[in-house]
Amino acid sequence: MKPVMAVLGAGRMGSALVKALLAAQYDTHVWNRTSSRCAPLAALGAHVAPTVLAAVSAADIVIGNLHDYDAGDRLLHAPDVAAALRGKLLIELASGSPRLARERERWAREQGIRYLDGAIMATPDYIGASSATILYSGPQELFERSKGVLLALGGNAVHAGEDVGHASALDSALLIAMWGQLFGLLQGAAICEAEQLPFGTYAKYLAGIKPMIDGATVDLSGRLERRQFAADETTLATLGAHYGAFQHLVELCTERGIPRAIPDAFGAIFRAAIDAGHAEDDFAVLSRFMR
Ligand code: NAP
Repeated sequence: MKPVMAVLGAGRMGSALVKALLAAQYDTHVWNRTSSRCAPLAALGAHVAPTVLAAVSAADIVIGNLHDYDAGDRLLHAPDVAAALRGKLLIELASGSPRLARERERWAREQGIRYLDGAIMATPDYIGASSATILYSGPQELFERSKGVLLALGGNAVHAGEDVGHASALDSALLIAMWGQLFGLLQGAAICEAEQLPFGTYAKYLAGIKPMIDGATVDLSGRLERRQFAADETTLATLGAHYGAFQHLVELCTERGIPRAIPDAFGAIFRAAIDAGHAEDDFAVLSRFMR
């Protein structure tokens, strides 16, 4: 028998979660503060709950997907809601931090509620797809037991560890890698605009150097894993070589009046390592200045 589901939150992501559950034939209740957002979900077969208590009471498994943990806490901590959750599984899928996940887990344990903390590494259009990655942390046994539902939400459902904070920790660690690339793209676009280079030209060359960037990422990952910071015969470029090229970027931004917030942040880390005598080391040595 499939568990009855409840989703708290029918925003962009919450609605996608409800749709994926309905598509996988789960009987699904949904509550949203602004109830009109539930109308398209009702048309697909979801039961619209008038209150959080009604949604939680109707379900075996409750998924939280409000804006943040704070909004969720304010609703879940109501004594009647907490009592209705007792013995059930609560899966939090709002974005949060390891601290928030651990606080929520502690509260859930005190209330007799089983708890998994999740981090969605996908946009709403991917929810329910086989390629959608969602990380979960908490007891492996709970993860395995709920696997059917978790796979309905995203085909790449991953148990990120028993430490309930680790899904959120990985979320932040993975997103900074994404933002690093995206902010870099924005800075590059600003340079092109200042130099009157069409964006399309930039995009074309960016695609062309992607294999080089991917290779450097693999090389750096290996060195971090091995904690190998000194340059060796396979080092792609020393820190000093990187810094020389980087200074031309800073000069260009300064001359053209392009905001330097991002280059200056990189520059501070470069300089700390260079000043400490690491110009001849591998780029990987910068990791020692970021802890
Ligand atoms: P959204 O479209 O802005 O929806 C926010 C939801 O939170 C709505 O249901 C909203 O209700 C509700 N809400 C906000 N404050 C509330 C409060 N004080 N009390 C009760 N309900 C409240 O955001 P979203 O994109 O669905 O994101 C939801 C969560 O998923 C966030 O934690 C987000 O970081 C995470 N997430 C999103 C994505 C994505 O690509 N969208 C990806 C990964 C993770 P109303 O409709 O009444 O305003």
